[in-house]
Amino acid sequence: MPENHALSEMLAAITAPDRTSEDIAALRLPESFRAVTVHREDTEMFRGMRTADKDPRKSLRVDEVPVPELGPGEALVAVMASSVNYNTVWTSIFEPLPTFGFLERYGRTSPLAKRHDLPYHIIGSDLAGVVLRTGPGVNAWQPGDEVVAHCLSVELESADGHNDTMLDPEQRIWGFETNFGGLAEIALVKSNQLMPKPGHLSWEEAAAPGLVNSTAYRQLVSRNGAGMKQGDNVLIWGASGGLGSYATQYALAGGATPVCVVSSEQKAEICRAMGAEAIIDRSAEDYRFWKDEHTQDPKEWKRFGKRIRELTGGEDIDIVFEHPGRETFGASVYVTRKGGTITTCASTSGYMHQYDNRYLWMNLKRIVGTHFANYREAWEANRLIAKGKIHPTLSKTYTLEETGQATYDVHRNLHQGKVGVLALAPGEGLGVRDEEMRAKHLDAINRFRDI
Ligand code: NAP
Repeated sequence: MPENHALSEMLAAITAPDRTSEDIAALRLPESFRAVTVHREDTEMFRGMRTADKDPRKSLRVDEVPVPELGPGEALVAVMASSVNYNTVWTSIFEPLPTFGFLERYGRTSPLAKRHDLPYHIIGSDLAGVVLRTGPGVNAWQPGDEVVAHCLSVELESADGHNDTMLDPEQRIWGFETNFGGLAEIALVKSNQLMPKPGHLSWEEAAAPGLVNSTAYRQLVSRNGAGMKQGDNVLIWGASGGLGSYATQYALAGGATPVCVVSSEQKAEICRAMGAEAIIDRSAEDYRFWKDEHTQDPKEWKRFGKRIRELTGGEDIDIVFEHPGRETFGASVYVTRKGGTITTCASTSGYMHQYDNRYLWMNLKRIVGTHFANYREAWEANRLIAKGKIHPTLSKTYTLEETGQATYDVHRNLHQGKVGVLALAPGEGLGVRDEEMRAKHLDAINRFRDI
């Protein structure tokens, strides 16, 4: 139970079984709440250190912060649970840049956006919770609604964003490029980030898919990404990780064949539990795509391609689901079939990629850049969770105070699937509304916890 009295009252009210929207609207809001932050004054603390040695436990703090002012088109949400994403890692180690530059730039765009430019950054790009207040102009959502939030923040004042909101020039990732994120007891979102919380999931399960599920949906399934179809062979790097655990499910649910790459037998086992059969343990098979820092080894690309053909009955890859970046990109371009697609949303191991362009142009392959998802895609991804077609891949849950440790685990690749964080929820397993549907999918929901 939070020590903050007004916050305790708020929690009691939102968890009361027979509460109404009017009860929540009439609630006295607390003046402050606890939030996971990084501080502007800390941004030099890891200077000169190797990326791997930078420790999120040293930079992430839990602060008591004031409730932000609510603007038009916005909602304040009581956060029951959130999750750690890789952007939590990037923020906490101040790479590739400290996030305060994003907040300053955003702050310059309007008097309302100026609220975001603070000496502390409340981070987090996922939440499941209850709407507390809505600002002027919000009609689709009411206080008391149980929601999840996707992390696309857009202004849509320019024509550019009106075909695909990801193309808005003022597109930002909430909780990474904006303040007042989800790793907190109260978050500020735009109302067009809200989506219904799937009733068969607990708070922490509902918060877990958010960012990665929507990203994987656009990257692999959407026409804005690879437009996967039945029968495609999909090479999925990090297939039991945040993005990969959803990409694997999309491939299986969509009639494609995932070829899952992982780095341990335990992770291979998780992929098998999801239903994948073609699995490559990159550690056991010891692929070394780089001879040294500057030189790749095409023989290793070939060995990797041969292994893929063994697993697919001689077929090549239609779609590569890329995110490791520099380390794997040359191999990814090589193993893609003639006319196939490499779709990339990240460069965890380095963003200056190198590949042999002859394999790309002579074989008419294409590289598709993709980033998060528009509201429609995020909605569809959440809808598939709500229908029990795609499941959360939550492996472990931490408290708000333990977010540093949770982020450290993700940074060190010690985690499986997704790592959850409880905010106001006093324990795990709460918030389930549809027990019947839950019972039907329980094994799948718990898959990442049982291994
Ligand atoms: P994650 O949970 O850490 O999973 C990534 C997995 O990739 C790891 O578990 C690891 O699996 C594999 N991997 C890591 N380094 C590798 C390497 N050098 N070679 C081969 N495989 C490697 O992280 P995530 O949430 O999936 O995010 C992955 C990346 O995507 C991050 O950089 C993140 O910032 C980015 N991202 C971008 C967007 C976007 O919208 N643009 C959205 C989400 C995430 P194994 O050890 O089992 O192989």
